[in-house]
Amino acid sequence: MSEPTSRSSEPLDQLKTHLAEAADLQSAAAVLSWDQETFMPEGGAAARSRQLSTLQRLAHEAFTRDAVGALLDDLASPAEDGAPTDGTAALVRVTRRDYERARKVPSALVARLAQASSEAKQAWKAARADDDFDAFAPHLERLITLSREKAEALGYEDTPYDALLEEYEPGTRTADVAPLFETLREELVPLVEAIAEAEQVDDACLHGDFAPDAQQQAGEEVIRAFGYDFQRGRQDRSAHPFTTAFSTGDVRLTTRFDPQFFGTGFFATLHEAGHGLYEQGVADDLERTPLAEGASLGLHESQSRLWENLVGRSRAFWRWYLPRLRERFPQQLGSVTEDAFYRAANKVEPSLIRVEADEVTYNLHVMLRFEIERALIEGRLAVEDLPGRWNAAMDDALGVVPESDANGVLQDVHWAMGAFGYFPTYTLGTLMSVPLFRQAEADLGGLDEQIAQGEFGPLLSWLRTHIHRHGRKLQAADLLARVTGEPLSAQPWVDYVRKKFGAIYGL
Ligand code: ZN
Repeated sequence: MSEPTSRSSEPLDQLKTHLAEAADLQSAAAVLSWDQETFMPEGGAAARSRQLSTLQRLAHEAFTRDAVGALLDDLASPAEDGAPTDGTAALVRVTRRDYERARKVPSALVARLAQASSEAKQAWKAARADDDFDAFAPHLERLITLSREKAEALGYEDTPYDALLEEYEPGTRTADVAPLFETLREELVPLVEAIAEAEQVDDACLHGDFAPDAQQQAGEEVIRAFGYDFQRGRQDRSAHPFTTAFSTGDVRLTTRFDPQFFGTGFFATLHEAGHGLYEQGVADDLERTPLAEGASLGLHESQSRLWENLVGRSRAFWRWYLPRLRERFPQQLGSVTEDAFYRAANKVEPSLIRVEADEVTYNLHVMLRFEIERALIEGRLAVEDLPGRWNAAMDDALGVVPESDANGVLQDVHWAMGAFGYFPTYTLGTLMSVPLFRQAEADLGGLDEQIAQGEFGPLLSWLRTHIHRHGRKLQAADLLARVTGEPLSAQPWVDYVRKKFGAIYGL
């Protein structure tokens, strides 16, 4: 690598050199994190957290150098005239946004947040195991206080929650998100009640002995057919499925299997592959810059939800895949019909745990987290009142109340990580997936027939062209509007679930 301060090169090359160094350090940290979640022995934990903290500090220092700011200033005026997808203009715009955010938060606050979230994560694990919210409460208080400080440092117009949401969904405000959840509440609560009163779907065919290795082979057969490239990726197992990219040439997936239930592992595999396909599709020339990743967590989630639900839970998909799956599990699935399997894969049931929720109830789980974390950050809800508020919100939204905090307010790791503003991106992505899929259907024609034949190439290349290759050049909302001609609304997704689940449940 050339010297970051080389005087002979143009400002753009100099900027790219700094950014490449920061990106390489971040990628190296990502490899260590991936290893920690997959293969690292327990004894490596303490050293690993030191190694990660050193690499992350170096990456942050490389990215926030004064020289980077000076180069961004040099490059500002020609860049601002560029078209939205012009590479240099987008690089300067996105880098400046990240740079200014990174410089606004004092490094002492960054360190206190890192320390507090590391301690909170340990406390959360123990508190969840012991069902002891009070043991976690002081950690949560501290993280809320520090997150508010961070929001003040970053600045905001309406609510400190905006400054935190911006981290995960650039350009999106609380005022954009809140009305979407209002629509979802109005539409979904009665729908879930109607489903609860209808005759329940029998999903017995998904329960039974499903050897994890055979499940893994089935999942890999499908995601290979989707177009996930195992020459540029691999799949391993971890406690919580995730996707991580070290470059567009090395995008890793993890999944997990329940030996007694087919749904968990299979749909998690399809979901993570959706994230992986996005990362594998980012244009190579964006490599080692801030543009070389998904536009936002929401847009990322639109890709995982699209492959998991709109493809993987569709009737057309099972027309193609059930005969193949029967060959892998002849005893378990030999006599199951396509209709029975399709219905089983789409069973709706209000439940306590977000990550196990079905397509219809999932967004209600996210809605109550959004409302609660926003109230916490805005100072409208005290930590001591949190468990009561949680249980009341579950009762309102889903009609079920957890018997313990472990299966209630303590179930997710996000707050223990100080990740306030993350949850709504799950729903934003779910909502985005439907208009994107509808547009692909309109452009491609015969998408359903292609899926029923196991032909996913046209869909993947449509996603590559319209979404993946751009990386972060466009903000998610702009990209969605460009591709579909409409701003994000809850209605297309609501129409989709009403039609699909209305048919399954005879409503
Ligand atoms: Zn996801």
